[in-house]
This record gives sequence, structure tokens and C-alpha cells, in this order.
Amino acid sequence: MTIGILREAVTENRVALLPSEVARLKKLGVEVFVELHAGKRAFASDKQYQEAGAVITDRKEVISNSGMLLSVNPPLDDDLNSFRDGQILCSILNPVENLKWLEKARLRGLTVLALDLIPRTTRAQSMDILSSMATVSGYKAVLEAASTLPRFFPMFMTAAGTVKPSHVLILGAGVAGLQAIAIARKLGAVVEVFDVRSAVKEEVKSLGGKFIEVEGAKEDASAGGYAVEQTEEFKKKQQELIHRHAIASDVVIATALIPGKKAPVLLLKQTIAAMKPGSVIIDLAASCGGNCELTENGKTLNINGVRIIGKSDYPSEMSTDASKMFGSNIINLLKIMIDKDGILAINLQDEIINGTTAVHGKEYISQRIKQIIKI
Ligand code: NAD
Repeated sequence: MTIGILREAVTENRVALLPSEVARLKKLGVEVFVELHAGKRAFASDKQYQEAGAVITDRKEVISNSGMLLSVNPPLDDDLNSFRDGQILCSILNPVENLKWLEKARLRGLTVLALDLIPRTTRAQSMDILSSMATVSGYKAVLEAASTLPRFFPMFMTAAGTVKPSHVLILGAGVAGLQAIAIARKLGAVVEVFDVRSAVKEEVKSLGGKFIEVEGAKEDASAGGYAVEQTEEFKKKQQELIHRHAIASDVVIATALIPGKKAPVLLLKQTIAAMKPGSVIIDLAASCGGNCELTENGKTLNINGVRIIGKSDYPSEMSTDASKMFGSNIINLLKIMIDKDGILAINLQDEIINGTTAVHGKEYISQRIKQIIKI
């Protein structure tokens, strides 16, 4: 089997595999080609890749030599023409945004493995790229909030008097939210948390957060651990309660998402207008429309002294460890696809492979993709 690692566009600092993961791949009997300078922005040199056993070459050669191509983001539109029938592409897909790209890939006879479609099952936990990247985002979001806030996070007893701890409100206690609770608590803040899934209540408490419950949340056991859209009545009740807690907070970290849908709007304009000047909102749901009504993706706004930071690309900012986790997840996926002779097979009978394969043999495979395109 031959695998190629592509260099990302300039807006992305991560790389699909670091040299340490290339060495693990070599042990599986795979030949590895790496595009020139692919790891540069994750601080991995071409020499390190060579030492790990990879061949460094240009993009054209990587594409023509490799049976499978790995990247963080889907390869560019222009690349699609240079891929050949049967070649396998493996990256995060963002299916809702990239349906046209996927259709072109399908028509060209490519196999597309979408790392963001890996089922959220116990067996697939070690391959779960979304969890890895959410861990990075939750961590970085708290650090950015702490460095932007004009106050301390912890309580201090100083000769100049007592400094009160900051209050952090976390919206959504999924992987990113739970990580944010842990880091904010480590920094000494008082942490309050909202989620619509009652299952997270105990986890929130064990991390030292206070769980704020809004009664009447709709939960669906068939949603695979994810949240579902709430009723209008619930949304109104939740917005009112969040309003009361947000205006008493110094920081809001918003992470609430519903798969395949626009992010729920939890912080309204009137809430922001009533928040304390100097407060900071980090909206990790920015690329899905944001949890805050005023968020603009990729921008920092200052609304009467309240800073709203709309960011979804923290993993790219922490490129070394984000790439390390990303690559480790990929290796764990490849381990169930590659046999002892180094041969890779797309076994659609395996629920993980089936759930992750967006297109194969000119057909849409994953149920999630079929739901999104309604076939
Ligand atoms: P996510 O990114 O889809 O959502 C983040 C959080 O926002 C979720 O906790 C969700 O309940 C919450 N949310 C949605 N709407 C909300 C609203 N209106 N108000 C408040 N909160 C709202 O979720 P995620 O972090 O990717 O994962 C969610 C859950 O999936 C995990 O906690 C876990 O139970 C499960 N999971 C399982 C695996 C696995 O077994 N491999 C891996 C990762 C996650």
C-alpha cells in the first residue's frame, strides 16, 4: 500500500501525519510519500519525515504515486482532475459545505473517507478526530478568554486586598465544553454550565462545574449521544435563564452544536447589551452560525466593551499537538483497514468503515451523507 500526505492550503497549519506517525505507518508495511514542506507550519521538517522513512516529493508525484491520500481538509477542487479512478481520499469533509465537491469526487470514481463521519461508538473512540479537535478548541478557548479578560481568573488574597474569582459560563458540555470546564476550573474560575442533555450533569459536577438545568429539554436516544433541536417554548425559557446567568458572568464559552443543523442561538442581542463591559464571549460555534446572535466567524467584535470572538480554527493555531492527535486517530483507523501484508481494503461490512465512507464505487455509502443529501 502507498499513502501520500498532502500539504494544506496556507490557512491551515496542521498536517495529517507528523513524522512520528509516519514511522508508525511504516511499521504497518506502508510506503509513504510526503509533499514538500507539508509539515512546515506544524514545525515538522522534510528531513524529519525522511528520517521516519518517507519519500519527500512534489504534489504531482505524491498524487500519482499514492493509492490513498491523507490531508486535514479536502484536497482542492483543482486536484480532483489529477486523481485517478479508485484512488482513496481521506480527510475531514465538512459534508454540508462540501456537497458539490463530494459529488465531483463521486463521479470521478474516487473513494472518500470522511474523518468527521466516524461513528461516535466505543470501538471508534481512538479514531475520533472530532473529539481530539474539540479538546484542543476547549483548551485554547479558555486560554484566549483568560488572556483577553481584564481581570484575573482565580481568587487572590493579596496585600492590596482580595481579588474575587471570575465567573465563566459554558454553553454546551460536549467534548469542547467539558475540556473548557476543566481548564477554567484549573485556572481558578467559578464555572456554570448549560446543556440540553441531562447525561452530562454528573460529568459537569465531577469537573467542579455547576450544572444549570432548564426543565423540559427534548432528548432522543437514537441521536447517538448528540443533542436534538428543541421546541420554541423550551428555547425561550432557556434564553431567559441564560440571560440571567450571562449578565452575572465575566466570560462565556459557547460550544453548543446540533449535527447537520445551524448552531442554536442562545445569547441574544439584548443579553450582550446587558453584559458587563470587559466581558469576553468565545463562540466556538461560529462556523455553524454561532451561539451568539452577533457573532461573525473569524472576527473579534467589540459591542459596548463586550468582546465577541468568533473562532472555530483553534486546532490550526495549536498545530503540533492538534496534528499529533489527528495523525494518531488516522493510524488507529488505518489499523482496522490494513492487513498483515500491508494491503488496504474498504470493508463496507465493518460499521466504522461503512459510517466513514462518504462515496465508494460511484455510490454514496454513509447513512449520514444520504440523510444530508436526502437520498
Ligand atoms: P457537539 O459538538 O455536537 O455539541 C456540543 C454540545 O452542545 C453537546 O453536549 C450538546 O448537547 C450541546 N447542545 C446542543 N444544543 C444545545 C442547546 N440548545 N443548549 C445547550 N447545549 C446544547 O457534541 P460533541 O462534543 O461532539 O459530543 C456530544 C456527545 O457525544 C459527547 O458528550 C458524548 O456523549 C458523545 N461522544 C461519544 C464519542 C464516542 O463514543 N466515540 C465520542 C465523542 C462524543
